[in-house]
Amino acid sequence: SRATVFDKNNGTPVTFKDVAGLAEAKVEIEEIVEFLKNPQRYTELGAKIPKGALLVGPPGTGKTLLAKAVAGEANVPFLSMSGSDFVEMFVGVGAARVRDLFKQAKEKAPCIVFIDEIDAVGRARGKNPNMGSNDERENTLNQMLTEMDGFGSNNGVIILAATNRADMLDKALLRPGRFDRQIYVDLPELTDRMEIFNVHLRRIKVNSKLDVEQLARQTQGFSGADIANVCNEAALIAARNNKKTVDWNDFMAAIDRIVGGLEKRSRIIT
Ligand code: ATP
Repeated sequence: SRATVFDKNNGTPVTFKDVAGLAEAKVEIEEIVEFLKNPQRYTELGAKIPKGALLVGPPGTGKTLLAKAVAGEANVPFLSMSGSDFVEMFVGVGAARVRDLFKQAKEKAPCIVFIDEIDAVGRARGKNPNMGSNDERENTLNQMLTEMDGFGSNNGVIILAATNRADMLDKALLRPGRFDRQIYVDLPELTDRMEIFNVHLRRIKVNSKLDVEQLARQTQGFSGADIANVCNEAALIAARNNKKTVDWNDFMAAIDRIVGGLEKRSRIIT
């Protein structure tokens, strides 16, 4: 098959310790870990386990990380695909990839299926009638809906999908029995940014006087991905200058570089 589904559960699994901040999202997602670990607890009482949840939030805030952590905590395989991988020019390819993904999921159950950028397939139907490939995208979306409906609940497969534009999604995707739960993953506040720094500073030899709270204050509006970038960039700058540890000045230089990048990004968007 041509689908690029891969099992990323080899190597060290991601756990909740790797995900900083996001306290509310973690509480909701912990329930999904329980569904995977102890399904009988729910099914014996006659409860239907949800088939899927939608992770909603800006880019780089940890949606993929959180989905991987669910698989890591429950110790089940993680099958992942991006919505854009389903959007193909050739008729039937997208739908075939959807079928293939769900087939693999059934074989590997219990498991997590993660669909990043679901909006690439799941945009509301009937918009942009001028775009030629729209019919094909609708076929793919219909196949996804069919697969989700065909799935019994309580079969050990939970589908997580990520988007930064839940408002653009076809309402059919959000109906009960599909992605009927939404979990918000927002940009981090000050204390969350401190936690994110602490996660990423674990890997780095930092100067003992480094003030993490001040770093968090200097990075308002940064996503978790931006902060991970700052830490790595600071270490590169320190290495370039032959330092033994990474210090405040290296971090300030790294933040300047990333802010420069962010400004460029928003200038392109606006
Ligand atoms: P996108 O919408 O762009 O796909 P995303 O929300 O899925 O982004 P991730 O891919 O999960 O973001 O995050 C990218 C990287 O940023 C992570 O691998 C991690 O290194 C870092 N990161 C993001 N959020 C957090 C967080 N809450 N705690 C720790 N690290 C984080």
